[in-house]
Amino acid sequence: MSAMLLNKEKWSDFVGMLAGKNLWAPRESDEGLRFVPVAEGEVPTLDYNNTRVPPKEAVFPQTETLFKFKVGGKDLEEPRPDQDAVLLGVRPCDARAMHIIDELFSWDEDDPYYLKRREKTVLVGLACNEPGLNCFCTSVGGGPVSTEGLDLLMVDLGEKYLLEEVTEKGSALIDEVKELLEEADDNSSKQKDKLADEAAGKIKRSIETEGIPAGLPGLWEDELWQRVSASCIGCGTCTFLCPTCHCFDIQDETEGFEARRCRMWDSCMFREYTLHTSGHNPRPTRSERTRNRINHKYSYYVDKFEVIACVGCGRCINLCPVNIDILDILGQVKEEI
Ligand code: SF4
Ligand code: SF4
Repeated sequence: MSAMLLNKEKWSDFVGMLAGKNLWAPRESDEGLRFVPVAEGEVPTLDYNNTRVPPKEAVFPQTETLFKFKVGGKDLEEPRPDQDAVLLGVRPCDARAMHIIDELFSWDEDDPYYLKRREKTVLVGLACNEPGLNCFCTSVGGGPVSTEGLDLLMVDLGEKYLLEEVTEKGSALIDEVKELLEEADDNSSKQKDKLADEAAGKIKRSIETEGIPAGLPGLWEDELWQRVSASCIGCGTCTFLCPTCHCFDIQDETEGFEARRCRMWDSCMFREYTLHTSGHNPRPTRSERTRNRINHKYSYYVDKFEVIACVGCGRCINLCPVNIDILDILGQVKEEI
């Protein structure tokens, strides 16, 4: 696969050409920086670490209608997604996260809603020249220029962007905007390698994950879970805004005789998540819920899909209102093991 260069003077033309393809990119909103549809003439914000809400929402919406029906009727109306989309400026950790949850959505049953959107979406990544304070992607199999999950990787070389094709979907997109691009030379690829080394060197936080998946089951009854969850207020931010979290609830909503079945993001950090109709709750306290959160990412998912379901984006650390830090938890897990 080849690489091309885009002079930043042509950036608005580039965005304009993509805008007709249902373009999503980071823009400031009332809820902070997040991926939103970009209309022609609007400028995405690429000067950022990562968005508050991960771009998974473009393929796994926070709330979506699975089907509509009429009370007493016999027919279902299924609004299956069929629109092409381009996500521009996806950080490598967030693209890896989608790649990781692809496994889940195509595991025992294919999820047609998620998989159709994934198939029709082109992921254009943006390498991280300046990783954030709490990024630790390099500890969990990723990196600031990782291409896993991406179709095209953009690297900011200063006056130009290097566009590296990763998949055929990425190549097809390049073909459509070719008139704006020039061939990349050896020098730009050397510049990219240098930036990649420098960016990896700027990542200050890390965890040695070896031994954690195998060691976690032995800590089931350990007192550490009470310790690390003592200040948790159960708000669910850590899971709601995690790019690999994928739990959802399904509810029927009715209005007169019109009804729809929807699914919406849910969080295992909420008490109601495991509350049975009988009143019994197998995870009654935040300690059990924190244990589940860590085990799910660092043990169960590894058993099932052979990959850690955490990409080290740092969101759960940056956004936890009581400063609970997954790397501190994992550090304590390591010590107990
Ligand atoms: S964000 Fe922090 S306080 Fe909120 S549920 Fe997660 S760990 Fe608990
Ligand atoms: S667990 Fe935290 S660091 Fe890991 S992917 Fe989720 S939000 Fe990012």
